[in-house]
Amino acid sequence: MEIRILGAHNLESMSSRLVSILIDGVLALDAGSLSSGLSLAEQGRLEAILLSHQHYDHLKDLPTLGLACMGLGTKAIYAPAPVLEELRGHLFNGRLYPDFTAKPSPEKPAFRLFPVEPRQPLDIQGYRVTAFPISHTPSSVAYEVRAPGGPSLLYTGDTGPGLASLWGEVSPRLLITELTGPDSWEETMLEGGHLTPKHLKAELSGFRKLKGYLPQVVLVHMNPTLEHEIGDQVREMARELGASLELAREGMRLEL
Ligand SMILES: [Zn+2]
Ligand SMILES: [Zn+2]
Repeated sequence: MEIRILGAHNLESMSSRLVSILIDGVLALDAGSLSSGLSLAEQGRLEAILLSHQHYDHLKDLPTLGLACMGLGTKAIYAPAPVLEELRGHLFNGRLYPDFTAKPSPEKPAFRLFPVEPRQPLDIQGYRVTAFPISHTPSSVAYEVRAPGGPSLLYTGDTGPGLASLWGEVSPRLLITELTGPDSWEETMLEGGHLTPKHLKAELSGFRKLKGYLPQVVLVHMNPTLEHEIGDQVREMARELGASLELAREGMRLEL
């Protein structure tokens, strides 16, 4: 799998984009930067989008991608059913944006929406995709993605502490998870359902204790105004754990 980080942050600016991860050019994890981070030709090649939860920073580019897809062909959007309901009610409602599930025509809409159920694997574009519940919003999910015969990637989306129950069910070679703020912002981060370095370290230590190894870890969803402090704490954590742990950046490519 070729993995491309299109957006690695929780704020958008000239130098930071919202979280989106592209797998082999065809499968996307979250939609924070699917139009702002891709050419129109690349948007055309995209086949399916997996949404981790309903917060707007993870959906932001769906309307602009939908407008492009009126001429580029149908994309499949997978998400927990409550997230699809939010899309229908608030974004694709014919008021803010067209109903992309019926336009440009009901036979060939811009988007087709498919609900995902936790722990029920799906075959999407030849990848085996499994969703797992995550502690962030009531319907948040993580996605495990595996190419045929290959290792797996786990993307948690936004998550607070409490990943221990997930570790028994997955064995990723690559873990893409979030680190929104540094430990000095611990209270605010926990209130928002996010990790800080201290809590990520506890989650990773639990993983190693249970599984006997640590995956390569790539971190997204950083607040750019706090990134310097986050980076210092992550480098220290990587040394202490003896682990491969790095902050993602826009344009980063990974092979799995
Ligand atoms: Zn969120
Ligand atoms: Zn977010």
